[in-house]
Amino acid sequence: MNSNEIDDIKSSSFLSTQFRRRMLSETVVNEYRHHGHSIRVIGSYQSRPDDLMLRLFTIADWLCKMVKSSYKMTLTCWLYNDRKRLPSQRGAKLKPEHLNSGMTVFPSRHIYLWRLQEIEKVLIHELIHALRLDHGWANLVGPVKGPGSGERLKVLWLESWTEAMAVFYYQVFLRYCGVHAKLDETIQRDELQHNAATCGQFLEHFGYRSMRELLDHPGKWKEDTNGWAYYIGRRIIMCSPYFWQMIARKGLGRWTSTMIQRCIRDIDWTAVEDVPIGSESGSSKWILATSTIL
Ligand SMILES: [Zn+2]
Repeated sequence: MNSNEIDDIKSSSFLSTQFRRRMLSETVVNEYRHHGHSIRVIGSYQSRPDDLMLRLFTIADWLCKMVKSSYKMTLTCWLYNDRKRLPSQRGAKLKPEHLNSGMTVFPSRHIYLWRLQEIEKVLIHELIHALRLDHGWANLVGPVKGPGSGERLKVLWLESWTEAMAVFYYQVFLRYCGVHAKLDETIQRDELQHNAATCGQFLEHFGYRSMRELLDHPGKWKEDTNGWAYYIGRRIIMCSPYFWQMIARKGLGRWTSTMIQRCIRDIDWTAVEDVPIGSESGSSKWILATSTIL
């Protein structure tokens, strides 16, 4: 890695000290190139990750083509098996080591990924940033306008929207693989259901009995990362009928800040609140983000 890249790793707030140290200590490097995109894999692996590299290149090509961008991806990845999980102590603060898996650095638009879990979906999330599909409302931060009148909580809607789109694009990629995005009711149903189960795990972790209680009194939620934006905010956006209408109309096209603001206004709060407490798999503390587990 060059000195800029080492600085990117050293200064990242998305990395725990332990991850950072591991990443900087690896020496084995493999490079892959395809259509002007480049991927560097750092660290040694039991088998050559050629199939995975091909899929990552295909995702980058597909997304760039869909949004008519000439962006050439520069990706550095470490394929760690560490899975995302809740802190072992109930109610403990969420930190980057529990759930963060990637970052995009500006102005270079260099993407870094370090967790194998869901690497394809995380790449799409980072590509949305790198392709500046979020441009125009990057500073959109606002309070939850929930059904209650309790504490007001700031949400980083940029991350919530990016995550909702990434989950949707990933399912489209898996199902249609290169075909134009279409509104698919099974994607909507499966992802909302899966997200509900994940939100339920967070509720249980922080000692809430319902989504309404969390939205009205968010004070028990503690984090040094964007867990709320990634999972709760994502659910709120995915419960906006307007979000799905726009997905159907625009597919993978560019969105404007007006559209995202309307998504946030037109929420179906009854759907947001439909969350089972605890996880589907009983004592599991793993954090999952899509209905397709890699
Ligand atoms: Zn992000």
